Amino acid sequence: MTTEQKIQRIADHYGYEPQSRQLVEELSELIQAVCKHNRAYEERPISVSCDCPERDSIAEEIADVCIMIWQICYLLGISNERIDQISEKKLDRQIRRIKNE
Ligand SMILES: [Mg+2]
Repeated sequence: MTTEQKIQRIADHYGYEPQSRQLVEELSELIQAVCKHNRAYEERPISVSCDCPERDSIAEEIADVCIMIWQICYLLGISNERIDQISEKKLDRQIRRIKNE
């Protein structure tokens, strides 16, 4: 089973309502993980090379959020191409803003 097939199987099983609620829950867990990481690093510099349980938690929650976003996109018929297209426009706009700073 491919990742896409697994996403579709799970999304079809539960449906939009429960999965949209689960997305909100996972988003709030990611927010909490980022806040916890920021609290832990208020007094010491962030280093990408050291082991950090708070960073592992963020990775875990990002994975949860991605899984839910993929399901919601599938259930709402939002294609990856559309997301990529919108993202590209937003990235270009932000790059222009940075150039004007
Ligand atoms: Mg989670």
